[in-house]
Amino acid sequence: MLVKSFGAAVQGIDATIITVEVNVSSGIKFFLVGLPDNAIKESHERIMSAFGHKGYKFPRQQVIINMSPADIRKAGSSYDLPIAMGILAASGELSEKLLSEYVIMGELSLDGKVLPIKGALPIAVKAREAGFKGLILPKGNAREAAVVNKLDILGVDDISEVVDFLNEKAKIETTTVNTKEDFFNHVNKDEPDFADVKGQESVKRAMEVAAAGGHNIILIGPPGAGKSMMAKRIPSILPPLSLSEALETTKIHSVAGKLDKTTSLLHHRPFRSPHHTISDTALVGGGTYPQPGEISLSHNGVLFLDELPEFKRSVLEVMRQPLEDRKITISRTSCSIEYPASFMLVASMNPCPCGYYNHPERPCVCAPGAVQKYLSKISGPLLDRIDLQIEITPITFGQLTNKNQAESSDTIRQRVINARNIQEKRYKNYNEVHCNAQMTVKLLHKYVQPDEAGLKMLQYAMSKLHLSARAYDRILKVARTIADLNNSERVTAEHLSEAIGYRNLDREGWGG
Ligand SMILES: [Zn+2]
Repeated sequence: MLVKSFGAAVQGIDATIITVEVNVSSGIKFFLVGLPDNAIKESHERIMSAFGHKGYKFPRQQVIINMSPADIRKAGSSYDLPIAMGILAASGELSEKLLSEYVIMGELSLDGKVLPIKGALPIAVKAREAGFKGLILPKGNAREAAVVNKLDILGVDDISEVVDFLNEKAKIETTTVNTKEDFFNHVNKDEPDFADVKGQESVKRAMEVAAAGGHNIILIGPPGAGKSMMAKRIPSILPPLSLSEALETTKIHSVAGKLDKTTSLLHHRPFRSPHHTISDTALVGGGTYPQPGEISLSHNGVLFLDELPEFKRSVLEVMRQPLEDRKITISRTSCSIEYPASFMLVASMNPCPCGYYNHPERPCVCAPGAVQKYLSKISGPLLDRIDLQIEITPITFGQLTNKNQAESSDTIRQRVINARNIQEKRYKNYNEVHCNAQMTVKLLHKYVQPDEAGLKMLQYAMSKLHLSARAYDRILKVARTIADLNNSERVTAEHLSEAIGYRNLDREGWGG
């Protein structure tokens, strides 16, 4: 007898419905065809064992399983459940009546428990789009899938629940989440706030500028200056996460299997801080079964690389292209997969190996040339994509005991939103450009025309501070953002002067 059950394959952050055809006929062999990987081929053993444990009969006949469309590579163990249901139905142990109404996904343990899967959210999105009544999946993934409305989300712990449900002997409780209410009740709540940070006004200002123009930023300072603590607060001054951004970011986390079972939609812009020992695959994504990396998990948020020179140079190199394209394409012989990767890069570094170069109180004990060598560990092209370079020093005792309340993230965020609105309007005819950091050279010449005094100052600064040509464009971009924060159409000497102040690493004396 031939029956069909339905599963789904996840590619990138989208899913495709997979039809599982099972035919049981006379003979004794087990065939699995349709581009399955090894994990699926092993499903035979897992299903046999689960059946044995639960008292279901595995047919002593020829079983042929075909997964289609055949040209899509199917990977992982999460097809155990749809295959198992197909086998039971084809051998007459299960009513096939409801099989066509549900997408079924889940890995089976040897004793018949249903184990979590990756990509439940994109699978749910696809199941609804394809007109299925519901999705049967592991309970641990139910809340994540329930972000999709108008689809029955049935979370299960055990294969017997699925069998009883499909045989109409028992019901499974539907998991529902009011996505919009849940999102708007929690969005941007409980973020670390700049109100808790005393002093450091110039660093906060630099972060505000970076957030306002979508600029990448590097913080240079000795250990204990509060680099990570400050970086962690950047998401709190970025524009609030929108529902569609939240959905896209949650999809990536779903595909990576990074959502816990209490989470439905992510409420905050992600802040990811991978350790410097990270591999290039873990950072940008890839692997035998392609998975999104940290740059995609930070999509719509912040990627913080603490102690940038400690990262392997090769790891930093692979990040250059995605920084430019705001997505990553992973090529495989059978297909190529794309993950979004639009993030703000925030990096930090000590000024030198000992950490105290340029420190007001402590001497640097590094050998001559060591500072330069340390700096050169970061590749020039990567540094080129970082518009703001800012020094950070530990706050003084006076600042620490200052009773004045620091400005809250909400207040700063409001100014950032205003500046972003100006930019959205300015670039409305350019699809790929939304903020000043994304300006092309052509747009730069069009929209950043400093006044007379500004040009003079720029000229003076270039020669006096020996700023490089590449620093020049960065300064113009950042000055544009500062002008936007001041609601000024024209870029003036004052804006340029502040922007020049954010090129600490370009100055003579750094690594010189
Ligand atoms: Zn030193």
